[in-house]
Amino acid sequence: MTPRKRTGWWLPFVSDRGAATRGGSTAGPPGTGLRALLYRRPSEPQSIQVVFERAIYLVRVRRHRQARRYTLRIHAPTREVVLTMPPRGSLKQAKEFAQKHGAWIAARLHRLPVALPFADGAMVPLRGVEHRIVHRPGRRGTAWTETGEGNEPLLCVAGDAPHVDRRVGDFLRRQARHDLDAASRRAAEKLGVTIKRVSVRDQSSRWGSCSTTGVLSYSWRLILAPPFVLEYLAIHEVAHLVEMNHSPRFWRLVLRLCPDAGQAKSWLDAHGTDLHRYGFSDDAGNQNTPVTA
Ligand SMILES: [Zn+2]
Repeated sequence: MTPRKRTGWWLPFVSDRGAATRGGSTAGPPGTGLRALLYRRPSEPQSIQVVFERAIYLVRVRRHRQARRYTLRIHAPTREVVLTMPPRGSLKQAKEFAQKHGAWIAARLHRLPVALPFADGAMVPLRGVEHRIVHRPGRRGTAWTETGEGNEPLLCVAGDAPHVDRRVGDFLRRQARHDLDAASRRAAEKLGVTIKRVSVRDQSSRWGSCSTTGVLSYSWRLILAPPFVLEYLAIHEVAHLVEMNHSPRFWRLVLRLCPDAGQAKSWLDAHGTDLHRYGFSDDAGNQNTPVTA
């Protein structure tokens, strides 16, 4: 969505003054990458454990050369808890800091929606319409939509049970590619610009991106949103081929092609994070389900 800055998948964070400020002047200026390397203890664990109310939370530790304090963040799409610390900060202080914020970690993770793997009986929104996944092991083909009893929208999947998740994922990616390709080409025609390639990925930090050479990239999860949201994203990215910025001129261009832009942006703000919980079953992101101590 934005050509330069990351969009907000990180929840609000907590931070604290850390060891870098201890002793004042020793905190190095930017460009102390070598120093960061020198002070990294090779045997240091990549993650630490925080215990809160009999649950254990895994916290990944990351030293950052520009960090001046200890900061805890939660990456909403993957539920990963990350503690950033100064290059010379101590692991002991990091542990104390994380432990002190155990309640914060627990509350934030608890509030995040749980992952919804694509399985028989599960609901998945396709173009904003809830579809029930139905496993049809005896049928030919891979995945298709059908209207069930009482006009219920179904997403049917053939093949063996262990492949249902992947087949639904593949089906949704194909649909996403189709819709995003069509929407991008419509917008390109209206704006008189040329698209080189449209690719669909599982990027968690942004909904779409656009290169100066005309390569557009989108999150396949946009197929889960109502069509006007997907349409807006395509127009937004293609408009960057005319204005590679977010200036008033850029927004006027977007609004001319997409009067619903404001509504689409609000929709993404309200529901965007939700779209990231689908089909996480074989993803590393599920590791932060609390483990009872
Ligand atoms: Zn943008």
